[in-house]
Amino acid sequence: MAKSTRRPQQIYAIVMWALSLVFAGILMGLGSLIIKDLPRVDKTVTVEQFVDAGTLSKIENRIESSEREARLLTRNTEDANSNYMSAAADYQSARASLENWRAARTATEAADQNPQVITRTKAVEALRDKERQALRVFEDAKGAQIEASRAASDLRNERAAVIKAAQPQFRKAQKAQEFKVFLYRLALTLPLLVIAGWLAMKKRDSAYWPLHRGFILFALFAFFVELVPYLPSYGGYVRYTVGLILVLIAGHFIIRAMRNYLARKQLEESRSEGERRQSIEYETALKKIAAKTCPGCDRAIVARDDVETDFCVHCGIRLKEKCGSCGERNISFHRFCLCCGETTNSGHQSQTPQNQAPA
Ligand SMILES: [Zn+2]
Ligand SMILES: [Zn+2]
Repeated sequence: MAKSTRRPQQIYAIVMWALSLVFAGILMGLGSLIIKDLPRVDKTVTVEQFVDAGTLSKIENRIESSEREARLLTRNTEDANSNYMSAAADYQSARASLENWRAARTATEAADQNPQVITRTKAVEALRDKERQALRVFEDAKGAQIEASRAASDLRNERAAVIKAAQPQFRKAQKAQEFKVFLYRLALTLPLLVIAGWLAMKKRDSAYWPLHRGFILFALFAFFVELVPYLPSYGGYVRYTVGLILVLIAGHFIIRAMRNYLARKQLEESRSEGERRQSIEYETALKKIAAKTCPGCDRAIVARDDVETDFCVHCGIRLKEKCGSCGERNISFHRFCLCCGETTNSGHQSQTPQNQAPA
């Protein structure tokens, strides 16, 4: 069966869908910009806010001074170490040269009491004492440095413990903050969803439906993409509650729509066949017949020996009729005979609806 919609109408439908999508896209961009800026309404919560400021700053000052001390002591240790190294080198070289000198002397004269020997030995001993002293200074500095860095690390541990103690309070405040942001988002997106629902129910036949449709797409996006991921969890209670409410609302409207539809169909079927056939829109009727559905009662059209029946066996509406002029079998909703081009019964009806043709 040929499509009944006029070609410009088909293009118009596509263009209008594009318009809906573009409109929705612009609204989405604007909406997500607004929603992203929302958390800035409040200042961010930090764990430091839940620690006594005096205690924390006292500990931090102590950490800073003990770290400064440790740095100073490290420098001292390095200095003492280099002093010690040079003292050790002085002593070693003095001792070696004394030994060489002595070995050279032993070969000629054996006089250990020689005052020159005594003087030189004493000088070497003085260097050895100096080396030992430098070593002691170095060890003391090293010990002090280790002590200071331990003190700093103890203080850091103390700070961590203070912050850890504040964690439960911090987390509670964080959750409260998240919930607040969620409520802001809900306050923005829920009215959009309500307006979208109203538009979907009331404005389907409006000339501005493509724009309304764009708004509905935007509202759905804002609610289900922008808001739902931010639902606070609380063990899933909020999510399931929102899900439940949505299912109940959807169920309510679907059931109501179905009942209305059935009531409407029952009312329609109580009217005369001609009235009913006339009340069905031309495009809708052709679309439904193409889908092998009765345009009167929406039930399947029955075929006998692969030929569709002239009447709907469920509601009695006329589906096919013979042309008055050439006898060709036409779809009863066509306005002109497909064979001779003569105006059909329904053609007469659509032109002069008050002039009811017999069924
Ligand atoms: Zn029917
Ligand atoms: Zn004909």
